[in-house]
Amino acid sequence: MDDVIVIGAGPAGMVAAVAAGEANKRVRILERMQQPGRKLLLSGGSRCNITNNLNAREFVQACGPAAKFLHNAVGRFDPRATMDFFAKLGVRIRVDADGRCYPAQGGAKQVLDALQIRLHALHIPIKTGVRVVKIEQQDAAGRPKGKFWPFKVIAEDGSTFECANVIIATGGMSYPVTGSSGDGYALARDFGHKITPTRPGEVGLTVADSRIRALSGLSVDDVLVTAVQGQKIAKIQGPILFTHFGISGPAVLDISRLVAQWQGASKFDLLLDLQPNYSANDLDLKLAEMLNVRGLLATVIAELLPERLAQLIAQSSGQAKKPPARLSAADRRKIVDLIKRFPVSISGNRGFAEAIVTVGGVDLEQINPKTMESKLVPGIYFCGEVLDLDGPRGGFNLQIAWSTGWAAGTGSAS
Ligand SMILES: Cc1cc2nc3c(=O)[nH]c(=O)nc-3n(C[C@H](O)[C@H](O)[C@H](O)COP(=O)(O)OP(=O)(O)OC[C@H]3O[C@@H](n4cnc5c(N)ncnc54)[C@H](O)[C@@H]3O)c2cc1C
Repeated sequence: MDDVIVIGAGPAGMVAAVAAGEANKRVRILERMQQPGRKLLLSGGSRCNITNNLNAREFVQACGPAAKFLHNAVGRFDPRATMDFFAKLGVRIRVDADGRCYPAQGGAKQVLDALQIRLHALHIPIKTGVRVVKIEQQDAAGRPKGKFWPFKVIAEDGSTFECANVIIATGGMSYPVTGSSGDGYALARDFGHKITPTRPGEVGLTVADSRIRALSGLSVDDVLVTAVQGQKIAKIQGPILFTHFGISGPAVLDISRLVAQWQGASKFDLLLDLQPNYSANDLDLKLAEMLNVRGLLATVIAELLPERLAQLIAQSSGQAKKPPARLSAADRRKIVDLIKRFPVSISGNRGFAEAIVTVGGVDLEQINPKTMESKLVPGIYFCGEVLDLDGPRGGFNLQIAWSTGWAAGTGSAS
């Protein structure tokens, strides 16, 4: 019988297994795919944005609602610990000017190889092609209830594995092609765990308006994006990209994650401030000067914005055909308003198939934040994206996997 079975050979599961193995536990990993770490290999466009160069306090603050829960695990295994951990495995980490950290060479493949070499050295097998569908706590008549009842882990093909502790590291529902299709939620529910509603996060947003979709391929470097639904508001500044389905790019991906935390938020409005460095008044003054010319309104606006966007704004203002010099102050304010609050009505998103992260998951109220152990069933642990945890882009989600994986591995070994 194993001391610990880890379900899922993603970043969280592999680090959990290393932590338990280094504490001299007999560990085995069960992985449903034919290879481990499929999502890890895709991370950061295969360059693997492994963490973010923040201290523990700054890191958890950036994670929003999950900060309180993460405080302990990140405090004990913070971004610096991640860099040291991988340095010991031979993966030197490079810190970019924006704080994002990547392997100095080799990218995601080097990270995965290093983890597998360490698991091998600790004699921890990864049994691939094993999809776990059930976990039972065996009848152990006469033995005290709790940790001392062994678990029976049952795979889809009927094979079974016995162990004293189980770590569920099955990921969320995003990019199911990599193996994470939400199995961990069913395993958790079997033990009475609540699952907070799951939604795609860090995902492209769809737009029904064909005038917006016609901007496909256009990127704007610096936009203040505001999402609005009733009283709820979220803001992110950064680049955006118009696509054939609607709108994407870094600022939109980050805002999609914040909006996914709102209940029933598939439809909402974005307001794009396309000139965030000008106040409305300053932009009005600037336009007043610029409009004093012959030619087309769109040509004037194109001095501030990409041409296709300038044309759309000129058309939307209803003044496209008027000579610029004849525009009234009210006409000009309408144009300023369109540039500072360009409305985009969001009809939905590209779904889990394209989402970088899952928002929602195993409810944190029922998990011990120090050890990642279930408060309902001693001996069951959770780590990584299967939990109701997510962070912004920039190495946060992998760091959450490393920190919670380490906590679950050491917790299961104590
Ligand atoms: C395209 C893409 C790029 C990304 N880039 C970055 C990045 O650069 N930086 C960053 O911080 N984050 C990034 N992320 C997010 C990050 O990769 C994930 O948050 C992280 O992989 C989650 O780790 P995990 O171990 O919890 O889950 P996963 O990586 O999803 O691993 C879960 C594992 O469990 C296995 N499994 C599932 N169900 C079962 C079952 N029933 N039985 C056995 N095995 C099972 C799966 O096959 C999988 O191998 C990216 C995500 C995507 C999709």
